[in-house]
Amino acid sequence: MNVRRISLTTLANGGELAVYLHELGGTHGDGPTVGICAAIHGDEPTGTRIVLQLARRLANRAFRGRLLLLPVANPLGFEAMKRSTPLDALNLNRVFPGNREGWLTEQLATVITEAFLTKVDILIDLHSGGACQTVDYVYILNAENLSRSFGSRVLYRPHQGLSGTMFRGTATTITAERGTPTVVVELGGGQVDQRPYVARGVEGIMNILRALNVVEGVPLEIPEQVVINEIVTVRPHMGGLLETAAPSLGQEVAGGEILGRVLSPYTFEELEVVRNPLGRGIMILSHLTTDVVGPGDYGYMIGNLESGEGR
Ligand SMILES: [Zn+2]
Repeated sequence: MNVRRISLTTLANGGELAVYLHELGGTHGDGPTVGICAAIHGDEPTGTRIVLQLARRLANRAFRGRLLLLPVANPLGFEAMKRSTPLDALNLNRVFPGNREGWLTEQLATVITEAFLTKVDILIDLHSGGACQTVDYVYILNAENLSRSFGSRVLYRPHQGLSGTMFRGTATTITAERGTPTVVVELGGGQVDQRPYVARGVEGIMNILRALNVVEGVPLEIPEQVVINEIVTVRPHMGGLLETAAPSLGQEVAGGEILGRVLSPYTFEELEVVRNPLGRGIMILSHLTTDVVGPGDYGYMIGNLESGEGR
């Protein structure tokens, strides 16, 4: 394995800011360059753990093509366990392709664009739910077979298409423009044991690599999958402790069903009952533990099963 350090700058504390790219080369002839990145959002280290385990699994193993791994895309966010970069409060996944003369996060985006996003033939971008929320779905963007190969049960195909719904400035906008097949994975996060999600992440990527014929082996049988076209984010209006009542991730939720309750941690009174605003839906983001929330935080995300593509 070959680790490349790309130095960005010197911080005011004297430390160097750098990103690290791991290159794993195949020995069985030519094949695609598969890029896998994690922690574009600093509070999503589950993806980093998936990349670590994948690198261990593939070390000393022959495969076609090569893997380019970016285990921590935003080191300052990662250090602080923050979605955005603390230094300039910018969300790295909204500023691609970046700006060399801009804020630090924009400079970081430029380096990642030049050294990584434009160097890969396939991109797998790993996200999770952050410090408190747990998520479980995969985007269908421009490579449906690869998205399906990851093996998650719920898939999200934005109904306005790739450019319509995706936020501007994501890493995906760079690869989409270039026609690079891209899979965005949302898996894990929150204050629960991440090991099952890490294991699923590694298996899912291995299965994508099998589908690409990068590694040998028969692709795994994929479970029955649900494709949704619309996601509703339900945000509590009150802050406090959010106690979830909803079914778990991947389970159906009825129209008007109670998702959770916001309680005052001071008086213990119930401040708000949070309900499913849709008809029949499927849980794709939830608080699996009783967490502190602020007004307007991510509470729950529900895929609309009434307008979806079905099973
Ligand atoms: Zn993310």
